[in-house]
Amino acid sequence: MKYISTRGDQTERRFCEILLEGLAPDGGLYLPVAYPQVDAATLARWRGLAYADLAFEILSLYIDDIPAADLKALVAKTYTPAVFGTEAIVPLRRLGDSGLLIEALSNGPTLAFKDMAMQLLGHLFEYELGRRGEQLNILGATSGDTGSAAEYAMRGKHGVRVFMLSPHGRMSAFQQAQMFSLQDANIHNIAVEGVFDDAQDIVKDVSNDLAFKRQYKIGTVNSINWARLLAQVVYYFAGYFQATKGNDEAVSFTVPSGNFGNVCAGHVARMMGLPIKHLVVATNENDVLDEFFRTGTYRVRGSAETHETSSPSMDISKASNFERFVFDLVGRDGARTKALFGDAIAREGAFTVSPAEFSAIAGYGFQSGRSTHADRLATIRGTDERFGDLIDTHTADGVKVAAEHVEPGVPMIVLETALPAKFAETIREAVGREPGRPAGLDGIEALPKRFTVMKPDTAAVKAFIQAHCAD
Ligand SMILES: *Cc1c(COP(=O)(O)O)cnc(C)c1O
Repeated sequence: MKYISTRGDQTERRFCEILLEGLAPDGGLYLPVAYPQVDAATLARWRGLAYADLAFEILSLYIDDIPAADLKALVAKTYTPAVFGTEAIVPLRRLGDSGLLIEALSNGPTLAFKDMAMQLLGHLFEYELGRRGEQLNILGATSGDTGSAAEYAMRGKHGVRVFMLSPHGRMSAFQQAQMFSLQDANIHNIAVEGVFDDAQDIVKDVSNDLAFKRQYKIGTVNSINWARLLAQVVYYFAGYFQATKGNDEAVSFTVPSGNFGNVCAGHVARMMGLPIKHLVVATNENDVLDEFFRTGTYRVRGSAETHETSSPSMDISKASNFERFVFDLVGRDGARTKALFGDAIAREGAFTVSPAEFSAIAGYGFQSGRSTHADRLATIRGTDERFGDLIDTHTADGVKVAAEHVEPGVPMIVLETALPAKFAETIREAVGREPGRPAGLDGIEALPKRFTVMKPDTAAVKAFIQAHCAD
């Protein structure tokens, strides 16, 4: 399988070439030249597979520059009950008679779905860097979920160091404890005296210094990474097999969305031929995506217009993976995609697709809806009371929107993107009690912490990276 850019550069790259990279050189995102097609016979063969074996089958269609035996071993050590809590890895449960099912994607080490992809990325990075005899220093900024998922994926991995910036004192006590209690020598937590945007600006400054970036082998693990997206395709198949008895049935998915990475993996699964009727994009008050699917206008927001909500991992002002879907929507026309994302967004911060493009959206199965803080509280309370099932704030946005789109005879699977233990404050507000914690996480706030506090100063962060690259 070869990969091309969404902005017209037709240079074909292989999987391991783009694995350690972010954007394509022309500013676009990487996509496979075509989606491999999965027929009914293949679906029938995959239906009985264990999760790791299913992952191997799907990844093999997209990765031809890692020997099969090696890929199989990498996947087998990633998706284990020891790491993800159950044999099923992504077990499905029914919400009473509501017609909704919840697919649990959040039983990995950091209690959010990002572990599903990031754990695989950790093994892939270690493998590929080892093969090349190279090192990589991952630099990132986080307000919570991504940073911790990256750290738990990369801890103790050979050839990789992580430098993770976070806004000092602004993460929840639980999130801080999760990250700062890691004692691995290759994990560096930097608490920046400022807000998330200050941390993000430092990462951008460092990345724009190409000489420094090259000399110190700076890389990222952000959500535009194709390998992350590909890993997420697997659980759409796994959810489908659990929800259906035969491959003539269709299901729909509702996906709590921010950067459009998770639901874009659903789009890829559907393009491969998985019988998905609808892909429902659920947003919170930051409704950039809901607005697009309702109106055809995509308008990015400034930070002043980006709301801080109780489903914070969906608080985005622009959806960094959205360009991948639009590339397919406009018939894989790189020049058109560049005109929309490279030109119109850069110039006006917005674009509107043509009427023909807008009416084509339905053919891709997309629908959307939005949820607010009040909806979130009511949904968490209602789901707890009616079904005895306590869900997190992001999943609640999904359940609220899913209920508005459920159709008779079509199972509606809501992706559970985090566990309630991560967002205890809002859970208390909704149901008046503490969410339970998975075994082993009680009292992590009291563990010794390992982090460095720094002023929001790019030069100081660079000096820190230099000093720790010799470790
Ligand atoms: C990252 C995240 C999301 C949003 O996922 P995208 O791939 O960015 O759309 C939703 N919920 C939780 C808990 C997350 O961590």
